[in-house]
Amino acid sequence: MAISESFDVIVIGGGPGGYICAIRAAQLGMKVACVEKRATLGGTCLNVGCIPSKALLQSSEEFFHATHALADHGVLVDGVKLDLARMQARKEEVVSANVKGVEFLFKKNKVVWVKGTARISAPGQVDVDGTSYTAKHIVIATGSESVPLPGVAVDERKIISSTGGLELAAVPKHLLVIGGGYIGLELGSVWRRLGAEVTVVEFLERIVPAMDGEVARHFQRALTKQGIKFRLGTKVTAARGGDDGVTLILEPAKGGVAEEMRADIVLVAIGRRPYTQGLGLAEVGVALDTRGCVQTDAHYATNIPGIHALGDAIAGPMLAHKAGEEGVALAEILAGQAGHVNYGVIPGVVYTAPEMASIGQTEEELKESGVAYNVGKFPFTANGRARAMGAMEGFVKILADAKTDKILGAHIIGPDAGTLIAELATAMEFGASAEDVARICHAHPTLNEAVKEAALAVADRALHI
Ligand SMILES: Cc1cc2nc3c(=O)[nH]c(=O)nc-3n(C[C@H](O)[C@H](O)[C@H](O)COP(=O)(O)OP(=O)(O)OC[C@H]3O[C@@H](n4cnc5c(N)ncnc54)[C@H](O)[C@@H]3O)c2cc1C
Repeated sequence: MAISESFDVIVIGGGPGGYICAIRAAQLGMKVACVEKRATLGGTCLNVGCIPSKALLQSSEEFFHATHALADHGVLVDGVKLDLARMQARKEEVVSANVKGVEFLFKKNKVVWVKGTARISAPGQVDVDGTSYTAKHIVIATGSESVPLPGVAVDERKIISSTGGLELAAVPKHLLVIGGGYIGLELGSVWRRLGAEVTVVEFLERIVPAMDGEVARHFQRALTKQGIKFRLGTKVTAARGGDDGVTLILEPAKGGVAEEMRADIVLVAIGRRPYTQGLGLAEVGVALDTRGCVQTDAHYATNIPGIHALGDAIAGPMLAHKAGEEGVALAEILAGQAGHVNYGVIPGVVYTAPEMASIGQTEEELKESGVAYNVGKFPFTANGRARAMGAMEGFVKILADAKTDKILGAHIIGPDAGTLIAELATAMEFGASAEDVARICHAHPTLNEAVKEAALAVADRALHI
């Protein structure tokens, strides 16, 4: 195959890992191409992940407020109706504006978007649908895909993945969500707010397994109050879809008597796995780990010189901002700089209401590693702004080293938790102590005062409780 063009860097995948790596590499003076097989840039995140799910979460929350919360504020609205077609159209508009934004950024930074499916034919060589390109560096940023569940075949009609869960044209009467992770709970929340009966079936005895246990228990109670039903310690072993819905077989996770359950729609959200299909990795000899992640060293280099990988395709939390940070770090490393990601300070957020946000170590992890710690907690019921907003569910929890007072972890459930956690991420990046945060003057009345109070509570000196 004749070589069509040569680049310093060819990034395979235009998601937040790939496109950010491409932009940063171009900013640093490299000649960069990004290959994307989708019709639009932005990857899972912008097309079928973070952005469309947040658009629907926002819209469904507006609907829920109009039907359930506004009267308490003295705002009376009669005849609230759901226009799901418009809600979905708005979601598409949001996605479209975002993906076009990435296209604009590529033009601005002179990143060449090669449209098509890439295959690494040799170190330094990438074939895209019959055209060959060479590069000093190849970056695998091909992301992830939903994990299939044996016995439950996704048809994107009655048995759907998260992608189908973002596109329903009617509110299901009963939505059964398999998997109590953040994707299942966010989509479950969307359809619950719009009127569906929602049951979450989870194999483990708890939801959101990576999050702090105390916060997760509070979270489950909050979602239960909203009418979401939970079947923990339960596995789905089979599902049969027909025109009138789906019949599922449920069994206790530990084994026991099976039962049948009916649902109109079943959402399979049991996790995601790296996607490297068709890339030619086996032929080139790129090593994968047992979970299918591309193996990399601390500099995102694979075992084959000149081939690098990042984002959901490698180990670590499958989060857009983790992928993006790796994109920047790798581009800087390729430019001879000291790119670095601090994996101890990567926030994780569940965008339900209340929101849930977490950073650093959980209480369970600290106990397991035998680290002595102090806990400071502050509830939103004692925060003036949360009361004014009518959003008092939840609390801020800070875990600090018992000897040094250094913040080791922070966990928030409550209004705008995803934004509030950024203050603690900043503090942790600077190696701050709980006292450092407690001594910062926080504006009144703000939700962030709950963060300050939790920091004060680490030393048993909270003022407003
Ligand atoms: C429903 C849902 C909600 C989510 N919400 C959040 C959230 O709120 N916050 C968050 O941080 N994360 C969220 N995520 C996760 C987030 O989307 C991923 O962590 C992120 O997109 C990973 O980025 P990436 O660049 O590694 O891969 P991706 O975004 O998956 O991008 C990879 C791209 O590579 C392309 N590709 C693959 N193979 C080839 C090939 N051979 N040739 C050319 N192109 C190829 C794919 O088409 C894809 O566009 C969510 C995910 C889902 C499914």
